[in-house]
Amino acid sequence: MKSICVFCGSNWGNRDDYKKAATELSREIASRGYKLVYGGANVGLMGACADAALEAGGEVIGILPRALQDKEVGHTGLTELHLVDSMHERKNLMVDLSDGFISIPGGAGTMDEMFEVWTQGMLGWHEKPSALMNVAGYYDDLIAFLGKTAKEGFVRNSHLDMMIIDTDAKRILDRMESYQAPTVSKWIKKDSER
Ligand code: AMP
Repeated sequence: MKSICVFCGSNWGNRDDYKKAATELSREIASRGYKLVYGGANVGLMGACADAALEAGGEVIGILPRALQDKEVGHTGLTELHLVDSMHERKNLMVDLSDGFISIPGGAGTMDEMFEVWTQGMLGWHEKPSALMNVAGYYDDLIAFLGKTAKEGFVRNSHLDMMIIDTDAKRILDRMESYQAPTVSKWIKKDSER
Protein backbone atom coordinates (compact mmCIF):
# COMPACT_ATOMS: atom_id res chain seq x y z
CA MET A 1 0.00 0.00 0.00
CA LYS A 2 1.17 3.51 -0.79
CA SER A 3 -1.90 5.69 -0.21
CA ILE A 4 -4.77 5.46 2.25
CA CYS A 5 -8.04 7.31 1.77
CA VAL A 6 -9.89 8.55 4.86
CA PHE A 7 -13.61 9.30 4.66
CA CYS A 8 -14.79 11.51 7.51
CA GLY A 9 -17.18 14.24 8.59
CA SER A 10 -17.06 17.77 7.29
CA ASN A 11 -18.37 18.57 10.81
CA TRP A 12 -16.62 17.94 14.11
CA GLY A 13 -19.32 15.87 15.81
CA ASN A 14 -20.15 16.40 19.46
CA ARG A 15 -17.31 14.53 21.18
CA ASP A 16 -13.60 15.25 21.51
CA ASP A 17 -13.01 11.52 20.85
CA TYR A 18 -13.77 12.07 17.16
CA LYS A 19 -11.06 14.68 16.63
CA LYS A 20 -8.64 12.63 18.72
CA ALA A 21 -9.25 9.55 16.56
CA ALA A 22 -8.94 11.56 13.32
CA THR A 23 -5.62 12.93 14.53
CA GLU A 24 -4.23 9.59 15.76
CA LEU A 25 -5.21 7.78 12.57
CA SER A 26 -3.74 10.43 10.27
CA ARG A 27 -0.47 10.54 12.25
CA GLU A 28 -0.23 6.76 12.03
CA ILE A 29 -0.86 6.86 8.26
CA ALA A 30 1.92 9.44 7.85
CA SER A 31 4.33 7.61 10.18
CA ARG A 32 3.97 4.42 8.11
CA GLY A 33 4.96 6.42 5.02
CA TYR A 34 1.54 6.31 3.37
CA LYS A 35 0.05 9.30 1.55
CA LEU A 36 -3.30 10.46 2.93
CA VAL A 37 -6.04 10.89 0.32
CA TYR A 38 -9.19 12.71 1.43
CA GLY A 39 -11.90 15.14 0.34
CA GLY A 40 -9.64 18.22 0.25
CA ALA A 41 -11.57 20.41 2.67
CA ASN A 42 -10.36 22.43 5.62
CA VAL A 43 -13.47 21.92 7.75
CA GLY A 44 -14.38 19.56 10.60
CA LEU A 45 -12.69 16.18 10.89
CA MET A 46 -11.56 16.49 7.25
CA GLY A 47 -9.35 19.45 8.11
CA ALA A 48 -8.17 17.73 11.31
CA CYS A 49 -7.01 14.67 9.34
CA ALA A 50 -5.12 16.74 6.78
CA ASP A 51 -3.45 18.92 9.43
CA ALA A 52 -2.37 15.95 11.56
CA ALA A 53 -0.82 14.10 8.60
CA LEU A 54 0.98 17.23 7.35
CA GLU A 55 2.29 18.03 10.86
CA ALA A 56 3.64 14.47 11.07
CA GLY A 57 5.58 15.06 7.84
CA GLY A 58 3.18 13.13 5.59
CA GLU A 59 1.96 13.90 2.08
CA VAL A 60 -1.73 14.76 1.73
CA ILE A 61 -3.75 14.65 -1.48
CA GLY A 62 -7.13 16.40 -1.48
CA ILE A 63 -9.90 15.90 -4.03
CA LEU A 64 -12.61 18.55 -3.96
CA PRO A 65 -15.52 19.33 -6.31
CA ARG A 66 -15.24 22.92 -7.62
CA ALA A 67 -18.84 23.55 -6.56
CA LEU A 68 -17.91 22.82 -2.93
CA GLN A 69 -14.79 24.98 -2.85
CA ASP A 70 -16.56 27.79 -0.98
CA LYS A 71 -18.79 25.69 1.29
CA GLU A 72 -16.23 23.11 2.39
CA VAL A 73 -13.30 25.55 2.02
CA GLY A 74 -10.40 23.98 0.16
CA HIS A 75 -7.32 23.33 2.31
CA THR A 76 -4.50 25.56 1.05
CA GLY A 77 -1.56 23.68 2.60
CA LEU A 78 -1.89 20.30 0.88
CA THR A 79 0.78 18.47 -1.07
CA GLU A 80 -1.71 18.25 -3.97
CA LEU A 81 -5.28 19.51 -4.40
CA HIS A 82 -7.30 18.12 -7.31
CA LEU A 83 -10.37 20.16 -8.26
CA VAL A 84 -13.01 18.05 -10.00
CA ASP A 85 -16.42 18.68 -11.58
CA SER A 86 -18.68 16.32 -9.62
CA MET A 87 -19.04 14.04 -6.59
CA HIS A 88 -18.79 11.07 -8.97
CA GLU A 89 -15.47 12.29 -10.31
CA ARG A 90 -14.27 12.89 -6.75
CA LYS A 91 -15.14 9.36 -5.62
CA ASN A 92 -13.66 7.79 -8.76
CA LEU A 93 -10.39 9.66 -8.32
CA MET A 94 -10.30 8.78 -4.60
CA VAL A 95 -10.63 5.10 -5.54
CA ASP A 96 -8.00 5.34 -8.29
CA LEU A 97 -5.44 7.15 -6.13
CA SER A 98 -5.86 5.00 -2.98
CA ASP A 99 -4.87 1.46 -1.97
CA GLY A 100 -7.30 1.24 0.96
CA PHE A 101 -10.13 3.19 2.59
CA ILE A 102 -10.92 3.99 6.22
CA SER A 103 -14.19 5.58 7.34
CA ILE A 104 -14.19 7.36 10.67
CA PRO A 105 -17.20 9.21 12.15
CA GLY A 106 -19.05 11.43 9.73
CA GLY A 107 -22.46 12.06 8.24
CA ALA A 108 -24.30 11.03 5.07
CA GLY A 109 -21.38 12.02 2.80
CA THR A 110 -18.98 9.79 4.73
CA MET A 111 -21.38 6.86 4.58
CA ASP A 112 -22.06 7.41 0.87
CA GLU A 113 -18.34 7.20 0.18
CA MET A 114 -17.88 4.14 2.43
CA PHE A 115 -20.75 2.20 0.83
CA GLU A 116 -19.70 3.08 -2.72
CA VAL A 117 -16.18 1.75 -2.23
CA TRP A 118 -17.30 -1.36 -0.32
CA THR A 119 -19.95 -2.26 -2.93
CA GLN A 120 -17.37 -1.85 -5.71
CA GLY A 121 -15.18 -4.32 -3.79
CA MET A 122 -18.09 -6.81 -3.53
CA LEU A 123 -18.49 -6.61 -7.30
CA GLY A 124 -14.81 -7.39 -7.70
CA TRP A 125 -14.09 -4.04 -9.37
CA HIS A 126 -11.14 -3.56 -7.03
CA GLU A 127 -9.37 -5.65 -4.40
CA LYS A 128 -8.62 -2.85 -1.95
CA PRO A 129 -9.53 -3.09 1.76
CA SER A 130 -12.20 -0.98 3.44
CA ALA A 131 -12.24 -0.31 7.17
CA LEU A 132 -14.70 1.24 9.58
CA MET A 133 -13.17 2.89 12.65
CA ASN A 134 -15.82 2.69 15.34
CA VAL A 135 -14.89 5.61 17.58
CA ALA A 136 -16.75 5.90 20.90
CA GLY A 137 -19.41 3.47 19.64
CA TYR A 138 -20.51 5.92 16.93
CA TYR A 139 -21.14 3.15 14.40
CA ASP A 140 -22.61 0.54 16.82
CA ASP A 141 -26.10 0.71 15.30
CA LEU A 142 -24.79 0.60 11.73
CA ILE A 143 -22.59 -2.41 12.55
CA ALA A 144 -25.60 -4.21 14.05
CA PHE A 145 -27.60 -3.44 10.90
CA LEU A 146 -24.80 -4.68 8.64
CA GLY A 147 -25.05 -7.99 10.52
CA LYS A 148 -28.75 -8.06 9.64
CA THR A 149 -28.02 -7.63 5.91
CA ALA A 150 -26.11 -10.92 6.03
CA LYS A 151 -28.58 -12.70 8.33
CA GLU A 152 -31.43 -11.80 5.98
CA GLY A 153 -29.62 -13.09 2.91
CA PHE A 154 -28.78 -9.83 1.15
CA VAL A 155 -25.03 -9.79 1.76
CA ARG A 156 -22.64 -12.73 1.97
CA ASN A 157 -20.83 -13.22 5.28
CA SER A 158 -17.55 -13.19 3.36
CA HIS A 159 -18.49 -9.80 1.90
CA LEU A 160 -19.44 -8.53 5.34
CA ASP A 161 -16.07 -9.72 6.59
CA MET A 162 -14.39 -7.58 3.90
CA MET A 163 -15.19 -4.54 6.04
CA ILE A 164 -12.47 -4.33 8.69
CA ILE A 165 -14.19 -3.06 11.83
CA ASP A 166 -12.02 -1.93 14.72
CA THR A 167 -11.51 0.89 17.20
CA ASP A 168 -7.74 1.23 16.98
CA ALA A 169 -5.83 2.99 14.19
CA LYS A 170 -2.72 0.76 14.39
CA ARG A 171 -4.74 -2.46 14.35
CA ILE A 172 -6.80 -1.23 11.41
CA LEU A 173 -3.68 -0.47 9.35
CA ASP A 174 -2.09 -3.81 10.35
CA ARG A 175 -5.23 -5.64 9.22
CA MET A 176 -5.36 -3.68 5.97
CA GLU A 177 -1.74 -4.54 5.24
CA SER A 178 -2.52 -8.28 5.36
CA TYR A 179 -5.95 -8.06 3.63
CA GLN A 180 -6.88 -10.62 0.99
CA ALA A 181 -9.97 -9.83 -1.09
CA PRO A 182 -12.59 -12.62 -1.33
CA THR A 183 -13.22 -14.04 -4.77
CA VAL A 184 -16.88 -15.11 -4.39
CA SER A 185 -19.72 -13.68 -6.48
CA LYS A 186 -21.94 -10.98 -5.00
CA TRP A 187 -25.06 -13.02 -5.85
CA ILE A 188 -25.87 -15.62 -3.23
CA LYS A 189 -28.37 -17.69 -5.26
CA LYS A 190 -28.99 -17.82 -8.98
CA ASP A 191 -32.58 -17.56 -10.38
CA SER A 192 -32.78 -21.36 -10.68
CA GLU A 193 -32.14 -21.75 -6.93
CA ARG A 194 -34.99 -19.53 -5.73
P1 AMP B 1 -20.33 14.46 5.72
O1 AMP B 1 -19.97 13.13 6.27
O2 AMP B 1 -21.76 14.52 5.23
O3 AMP B 1 -19.94 15.62 6.57
O4 AMP B 1 -19.49 14.61 4.38
C1 AMP B 1 -18.16 14.21 4.32
C2 AMP B 1 -17.64 14.40 2.93
O5 AMP B 1 -18.43 13.64 2.03
C3 AMP B 1 -17.72 15.84 2.46
O6 AMP B 1 -16.53 16.17 1.76
C4 AMP B 1 -18.87 15.83 1.51
O7 AMP B 1 -18.69 16.75 0.44
C5 AMP B 1 -18.81 14.46 0.95
N1 AMP B 1 -20.10 14.09 0.40
C6 AMP B 1 -21.32 14.57 0.71
N2 AMP B 1 -22.27 13.99 -0.06
C7 AMP B 1 -21.62 13.15 -0.88
C8 AMP B 1 -22.02 12.26 -1.91
N3 AMP B 1 -23.29 12.11 -2.28
N4 AMP B 1 -21.06 11.56 -2.53
C9 AMP B 1 -19.78 11.69 -2.18
N5 AMP B 1 -19.34 12.50 -1.22
C10 AMP B 1 -20.24 13.20 -0.59
